[in-house]
Amino acid sequence: MEPAPAPRCDRLLVHYAEIGTKGGNRRMFEEVLCRNLAGALRDSVTGGFGRESGRLTARLAPGADPGAAAARAAMIPGVAWCAPARTVRSDLEVIREAVLAAALSHGDGAFRIDARRTDKSFPLDSPAINATLGATVVSATGRPVSLRAAVHTYGVEVDRQRSYVFTERLEGPGGLPVGCEGELVALVSGGLDSPVAAWRMMVRGCRIHLVHFLNRSVSTNRVVEKIEALAARLSLYHGPLPLTFVPFDEAQREIVMVVPAEIRMIVYRRMMFRIAELIRAEHRAMGFVTGDSVGQVASQTLENLAVIRAAAEWPVYSPLCGLSKSEITEMARGIGTYEISILPHEDCCSFLVARHPETKADRGAVEALERFDAPALAARVFAGRESRTVDPRPPIS
Ligand code: ATP
Ligand code: MG
Repeated sequence: MEPAPAPRCDRLLVHYAEIGTKGGNRRMFEEVLCRNLAGALRDSVTGGFGRESGRLTARLAPGADPGAAAARAAMIPGVAWCAPARTVRSDLEVIREAVLAAALSHGDGAFRIDARRTDKSFPLDSPAINATLGATVVSATGRPVSLRAAVHTYGVEVDRQRSYVFTERLEGPGGLPVGCEGELVALVSGGLDSPVAAWRMMVRGCRIHLVHFLNRSVSTNRVVEKIEALAARLSLYHGPLPLTFVPFDEAQREIVMVVPAEIRMIVYRRMMFRIAELIRAEHRAMGFVTGDSVGQVASQTLENLAVIRAAAEWPVYSPLCGLSKSEITEMARGIGTYEISILPHEDCCSFLVARHPETKADRGAVEALERFDAPALAARVFAGRESRTVDPRPPIS
């Protein structure tokens, strides 16, 4: 038998899992998530997202592609899963008809019903709804039920005012919506790690301000384009994303004049934190994010990380510090930054550094060698910064 056309979905159903810091925060959490979803999906939904019985829903705009809208919602931090759904009356026979229509639009294969009753006054409980709808589909299609090996799952959510029937469930990143926490200044290098680190802190609810240091005498426009491409990708998760470029060449020239090659990398990194501190203060951010992973490169021994971080006045969050390169690479693929990160670029930190750098730096020794006016240099470099906001929507041309 030819499958019937799939019934049209008119709604987006969004479920969340984690609610941060417990207590009376659920409402705040839901409001932030509604706002972020509405921003990301403003072309695909009408009337915004509303809260009902532990889920959020929005009406799909006429002409919107339900699958594409759900895929977009599935990128938003805080979303556990979402689905394009068909809205029906909370009446068992109407629900039965909708599930049957969905089942008839699929070919063969085992199926299962996954019903949830949030309206406890509905005459059947969830297992009973599963049983009766399952029996209907079996007798109409001859397809077997399999809880473990179902090819299709028919989701049903029964609420007081209305019910939802859906077949396609997309997993989101979970975590907390961006804006539940304060802001962090994320140092992004153009490598694989730092964009993933920034993303991980977004999924903890933090607002992010990206900062990249570049040496204009060694780098081409390619670096700027690469960082912008990374920011554009990350903005799909974050929403409009502030990005600051800092010209680092003057600082590097000054460091090269007085600091031996073996510890220049460490001193560059310390200088980055002094400049990033001025950006942090300007935006009242609460700390920094880096892509450090312990032991991955010479600057990431515990000794060197300790000396580098001593220059930061606010906490440094490095969510990848305990992960392997292959774990980080897999995450980069998952969030779509991998293809951008592997493009070649000129790294400002390779500017006149030793081939065999110090791996066991001593804080006192490094500080003694920093014979330049670091606060004045940081202030001068900071003055040359260039900031913009990267919007997730491509500009209309
Ligand atoms: P990445 O893959 O992000 O480059 P990495 O593991 O290769 O990280 P390093 O290149 O040693 O490590 O840099 C450590 C961290 O310092 C980076 O993850 C990033 O947070 C920060 N960083 C390094 N270079 C820059 C830069 N030019 N601009 C901004 N931040 C930087
Ligand atoms: Mg790097």
